Amino acid sequence: MSLYRLKNWIRTRNILRGPIKGYYYLKYIRKYKRKEVHIPKRLYIETTSFCNAKCKMCPHGKMKRERGHMSWDLFKKIIDESKSFEGEGLEIILHKDGEPLLDPLLFQRIEYIRQNLHRPRIHFNSNAMLLNEDKARQVLSSGIHSITFSVDGASRETYEKIRVGLKYDIVKRNIEEFFELKRDNLNRIRVIMQMVVCEDNKHEIEEYKRLWSKKADVTYFKAMHNFLDMETSIKTKKFKERQLKFCEQPYNFMLIYWNGDVGLCCWDYDNLANLGNIRENSLINSYNNHKFRMIRGAMSAMDCAEISPCNRCTVIYGKDAYLCFGWERKFCSSGYP
Ligand code: SF4
Ligand code: SF4
Repeated sequence: MSLYRLKNWIRTRNILRGPIKGYYYLKYIRKYKRKEVHIPKRLYIETTSFCNAKCKMCPHGKMKRERGHMSWDLFKKIIDESKSFEGEGLEIILHKDGEPLLDPLLFQRIEYIRQNLHRPRIHFNSNAMLLNEDKARQVLSSGIHSITFSVDGASRETYEKIRVGLKYDIVKRNIEEFFELKRDNLNRIRVIMQMVVCEDNKHEIEEYKRLWSKKADVTYFKAMHNFLDMETSIKTKKFKERQLKFCEQPYNFMLIYWNGDVGLCCWDYDNLANLGNIRENSLINSYNNHKFRMIRGAMSAMDCAEISPCNRCTVIYGKDAYLCFGWERKFCSSGYP
């Protein structure tokens, strides 16, 4: 057998896939272990934790922590300190557990980021219920890089069953008008239409593509996950006893709740990790404090059994790390496109 045919034979039978994946996985973990000071690549800022919906899969209704809008001083402190590490590619995401369009200072904040940082990529998700013409114009002229509209259905009945408290007809009209304004103004903001897929809406995927894939820059289908152990996932029905994966969120993402508390990751909706407050410390010191180091140490040792809330998280004790369905991958991309 020629070398060429041998290589092809190995490749097509995926013989080395396991070891190759294992090799890159270890390399990845070692890279993070070596770092002395961790710098976030993506900053989630919860400008508001209020929301106008009660979506079925969202832990917002269960949240025990206090709700509020972030004060201007606190917001300014975050952006001012980000100057020291923004580098080339800092992404700023202006949402966490709440609807950004409810924040009265949203556009003022975006303006402040644009004036004070070099080339930040600014993004936020919205349920689009409040996206009237005035708000749509403000979004389009704000200079943000991208926006995700979260619409989990392609019919009124399905959508309103999942996105409780919102009105499908209004949301759909708002988004359609947004696309018209975007086209009329030759605006280049990237628009992502996102559907979180669950048993209730999976039959509407084709219709969703028909409705949005020509208008949106990305049509994104994401499997409904668990938010730790809320049992909403359609992928992980059962926890494994041992940790299966490594989670990169504590290495790349930094989350700041509206009151300045530092969060561990997108899934920690109730600040269970309790990593301190940036009113008492700088951003980078907070991101490298003792607790963060302990969590990263446990994560890279693949031993999060004693780490809350990772020890009840299906990202590493189940299958929820993979966000997209294999068969929908061509419509997806990881992170913010
Ligand atoms: S709109 Fe977003 S934050 Fe509000 S309840 Fe729904 S998923 Fe949660
Ligand atoms: S394992 Fe889960 S809880 Fe822990 S950092 Fe990752 S997403 Fe968050």
